Amino acid sequence: MNIILLGPPGAGKGTQARILEESFSMKQLSTGDMLRASKKSGTELGKKVAQVMEKGDLVTDDIVIGLIAEELELRTKIKGFIFDGFPRTLAQADALSDLLVQKGKTLSVVIEMKVDDEALIRRVVGRFNCKECGEVYHKDNNPPKQSNICDNCNSENSFFHRADDNEESFKNRLMAYYRDTSPLIGYYHAKGTLVSTDGLMDIETTHGNICQILGV
Ligand code: AMP
Repeated sequence: MNIILLGPPGAGKGTQARILEESFSMKQLSTGDMLRASKKSGTELGKKVAQVMEKGDLVTDDIVIGLIAEELELRTKIKGFIFDGFPRTLAQADALSDLLVQKGKTLSVVIEMKVDDEALIRRVVGRFNCKECGEVYHKDNNPPKQSNICDNCNSENSFFHRADDNEESFKNRLMAYYRDTSPLIGYYHAKGTLVSTDGLMDIETTHGNICQILGV
């Protein structure tokens, strides 16, 4: 089963992808995480994308398509992928479709996570991550059990606030979503693969709704 989680920044795609990955033997492919990893490693690619990401603009299609192509090439044993934050443009959607055909895979469903803009900004501004394992927390909705220890990997003092999780970058990211990514809703609807779900519910309820869509 290969699925796409589609939605604006802060819709909860990453959180849901991680839960799905843990619950079923699937692999989350987050282009945002891959780009952050290359930024951290200080590679040429990392330097190139760092400023673009901090401003909240989209990284070029060739870069992100290359990252996904590489993962699909390497991870031949994986039975199901969760595409999180990819595709974000029509060109990326076409490229993914070609890549899946080349690998003899099909796209099972595209799950659109709907959340209104006011809720998104509250979520993004209160969000923080564990730098060791990437676990996502929110100061009000999903705090760690102990304030400085990651529930997932037990790392101490590993929490950080993403550079682009601030109001100004968020506005750009939301703009990029409406301009470049939201046309994918019509694209996948026309292909008959789109199902929408309410992303405003709490984490467990949303997970339950996604499982229902997936029939698992
Ligand atoms: P995310 O972690 O998915 O919110 O992505 C963080 C940032 O990485 C985005 O605001 C973009 O700058 C960049 N990015 C992630 N995925 C893509 C993509 N598929 N296409 C273009 N840029 C991306």
